Amino acid sequence: MIRILSRASFKAAGGLLKDIQSRQLHGTYDIAVVGAGIVGLATARELILRHPSLSFVLLEKERELSLHQSGHNSGVIHSGIYYTPGSLKARLCVRGATLAYEYCEKKGLPYKRCGKLIVAVEQEEIPRLKALYERGMKNNVRDLTIVDGKGIREREPYCRGIMALDSPYTGIVDWRMVALSYGTDFKEAGGTVVTEYEVNDISMIKESPAGSTEGMKYPLAVRDNKGNEVRCRYVLTCGGLYSDRLSQISGCSREPRIVPFRGDYLVLKPEKYYLVKGNIYPVPDPRFPFLGVHFTPRMDGSIWLGPNAVLAFKREGYKVYDFNAQDFADALSFRGLQKLIMRNITYGVGEMYRGLFIGAQVKNLQKYIPELSLSDVIRGPTGVRAQALDRDGNLVDDFVFDGGVGDVGSRVLHVRNAPSPAATSSLAIAEMIADEVENRFTL
Ligand SMILES: Cc1cc2nc3c(=O)[nH]c(=O)nc-3n(C[C@H](O)[C@H](O)[C@H](O)COP(=O)(O)OP(=O)(O)OC[C@H]3O[C@@H](n4cnc5c(N)ncnc54)[C@H](O)[C@@H]3O)c2cc1C
Repeated sequence: MIRILSRASFKAAGGLLKDIQSRQLHGTYDIAVVGAGIVGLATARELILRHPSLSFVLLEKERELSLHQSGHNSGVIHSGIYYTPGSLKARLCVRGATLAYEYCEKKGLPYKRCGKLIVAVEQEEIPRLKALYERGMKNNVRDLTIVDGKGIREREPYCRGIMALDSPYTGIVDWRMVALSYGTDFKEAGGTVVTEYEVNDISMIKESPAGSTEGMKYPLAVRDNKGNEVRCRYVLTCGGLYSDRLSQISGCSREPRIVPFRGDYLVLKPEKYYLVKGNIYPVPDPRFPFLGVHFTPRMDGSIWLGPNAVLAFKREGYKVYDFNAQDFADALSFRGLQKLIMRNITYGVGEMYRGLFIGAQVKNLQKYIPELSLSDVIRGPTGVRAQALDRDGNLVDDFVFDGGVGDVGSRVLHVRNAPSPAATSSLAIAEMIADEVENRFTL
């Protein structure tokens, strides 16, 4: 069944459908956006605000919007410290954070600018911490300073470390709430949102429909797995964990491939909330920049610890035993993943061990907060990261957006890799993609 959101129901239900119309869909639109995570929603919003006379449809396979990465993350508004100067991540995160704060202010969405400490607990981490400071300065991150052990305790009385990078501009927010607000803006500007529409084919139509007065104005067909079809002029895909498959079905490159990594959080018991005030992060390991468990306060007042990162046997599989044969075979038959596993087998086994035995994870966390004990934590939620990998087993670090060639390829643009900090960067990514859409397509 296809569900089309009416403007009123979308707003009232916060993205959850209540009054539903179901029918075969044969609408025609200037642009179809596939995937209603925070990137798809931000971009659809930006495009319709810039081009109110064009028609837009947003196609999402789930019943609700932003259920996957955009609804399962740490909720941090990153300030842009880690990323290679000049990279898209560096540029779009710094701008995105500013835009995100402005957006939340304008819409009255709750957020907290609770800051972040990146803490060195060993002497050998200090050169890396200083290099990170230099990097943050090059990226124009606001208000960064280096503090000593005393400075750490002034900010986080229970945290032990010898030196830290203090980023007071870092904050927290509920990214799903932000994404749904983008969706409301899109609907209010006249956009159409269709859920339970799992796109499995994007191709050129051979001839104009019988009786059509529009001829070949809408030459692309975007079909779902139940035989429904939307016609459009251009397609933008923002498929998160399925971005490589969406690229493949439109005849574009399958690579970089997506490999899903599950991240399990622990949650602090309420009587121990006093241990953590803001975000506390480790100095990242340059080999695995996206790893490293952290302490993160949440908007509801709870404190999450983690996440770890273990290979998931199912894309969008949130439970330890979730398994999908196609996803599993796909991942293991990919030479890039085989190479990654061979190179990092010890680290990978360690992450799995820490995932299974939370005592090992707590031991890790005690380096930062020695007062923390095993009895202070319980198992918490899980997220799954879409990690793009190249065929040599290298993690693709930067955001990647590309199209293809030929009739279909020249009419599509794919968001291929939008890992963290893509939620923070979402409004800046949207600006960049909208520019790209304007450059590539004849709107
Ligand atoms: C554990 C974890 C912690 C993170 N922490 C942070 C953080 O603190 N701060 C930060 O800035 N970022 C963070 N991130 C990153 C951030 O959450 C993601 O980068 C961002 O949500 C990506 O958004 P997206 O729209 O690209 O993907 P998604 O949110 O995954 O959305 C993709 C959408 O496409 C839909 N879709 C897929 N295939 C199809 C199809 N065939 N047809 C129709 N629809 C389809 C999916 O159902 C989904 O709704 C974190 C991510 C994870 C996993």
